[in-house]
Amino acid sequence: MGDIEQLRRLMRQLEDQLVVCMRCGMCQAVCPVFAQTGREADVARGKLVLLDGLMQAMLSDPEAVRERLQRCLLCGSCAANCPSGVNVLDIFLKARAILAGYLGLPPLKKAVFRRLLAHPQMLDRVVEFGAVFQKLFTRPVNEVVGTSCARFVSPLLADRHFRTLAAVPLHRRRPSLNTPAGASGLRVGFFVGCLIDKIFPNVAEAALHVLEHHGVGVFLPEGQGCCGIPAISSGDTQTFNELVRRHLDQFDTDRFDVLVTCCATCTSTIKKIWPSLCSEDLTARAAGLAAKTMDISQFLVKRVITAGTTARSENGRVVTFHDSCHLKKSLGVSGEPRELIRANPDYTLREMSAADDCCGMGGSFNLEHYGLSARIGRLKRDNIAATGCSVVATGCPACMLQISDLLSQAGDRIAVKHPVEIYAESFPA
Ligand code: SF4
Ligand code: SF4
Repeated sequence: MGDIEQLRRLMRQLEDQLVVCMRCGMCQAVCPVFAQTGREADVARGKLVLLDGLMQAMLSDPEAVRERLQRCLLCGSCAANCPSGVNVLDIFLKARAILAGYLGLPPLKKAVFRRLLAHPQMLDRVVEFGAVFQKLFTRPVNEVVGTSCARFVSPLLADRHFRTLAAVPLHRRRPSLNTPAGASGLRVGFFVGCLIDKIFPNVAEAALHVLEHHGVGVFLPEGQGCCGIPAISSGDTQTFNELVRRHLDQFDTDRFDVLVTCCATCTSTIKKIWPSLCSEDLTARAAGLAAKTMDISQFLVKRVITAGTTARSENGRVVTFHDSCHLKKSLGVSGEPRELIRANPDYTLREMSAADDCCGMGGSFNLEHYGLSARIGRLKRDNIAATGCSVVATGCPACMLQISDLLSQAGDRIAVKHPVEIYAESFPA
């Protein structure tokens, strides 16, 4: 009943939001999917026209509507360039939730979301099991990028070059933390996120090292899970609400000054999507937590690192920076990660062309449309390689996965790092 009420509410909101689009088509010029396919159905305007008659379209061919809606990276390029300020991503997510309410979730997604994602401890056990046996099915291909590929034909892995699961995830290394504010007088809540926990725990370790160095206390509660973006991107409001509720209970805002994450997607989800798409009984608490949430680089540069402590070098190891869509287009954060990188005198930052063009990852888009995702991504790979860098940095672990795949497939020997890792290298362990 609660779900039906939530879907009704989403439908009413959707109707109000759709009228804002004036069909100017300016979103066409910036849509990475449209740039590859040239199909009006793939651009925001085409999808919004479809949604304007959502009830009618849902009744006549709901699967076709779902297929069209899923052919989207949720990159936000259209929204960032829309003269009318249409909240495109919010509209697309609401429409996906309404469709999933009408059609139901595909069985595989339903099983993964409801049995695993909604139960973080269960997901942890399954992933730990996978980490023990992954060497049987994978083999390393590029030691600089840190990628592996499948040993045998695998429909899921295809010919991807991927980062393997960490031997020891963060939740095993640091099950919980509760340290007081030090010299900075600040204390953060630390939201880990699935990819950081299970594939890139070294990024979280670097962030914790930096926070300790600057005298920032850390509250890291045990039993954290996913921010819910995979679930809500597929319209699963039930799993999404369970995860939002769980984390709101864990992260009592009285216990810290700022909630930080090292994942641009988690930050954007907590700040923008939790308050907008959670059930009504959670909205006020979600909005309170959202107001306290910051990307780690933004927090460090704006609140912690004192002016004059940043160094700049012209002769260091060349690093280029990719603006993750969730960090720049959704949160407006682009200068701070560059500041963190410049603060390490061993590195020289060299900008790539179109640093804020989408890398083509798009979460489940990469799983469902890998060929298209790779075509978009190869443009990013070419821009990275053209800088002559030996390191590429980005503030989102999902982009780190995509860029690792692209570089490795091209045979590049370029390391992929998070800006906080580069900054952390400035301090002795
Ligand atoms: S979404 Fe914005 S940019 Fe695209 S057609 Fe509508 S008003 Fe124009
Ligand atoms: S979110 Fe990105 S991929 Fe989707 S319609 Fe907008 S610009 Fe295109």
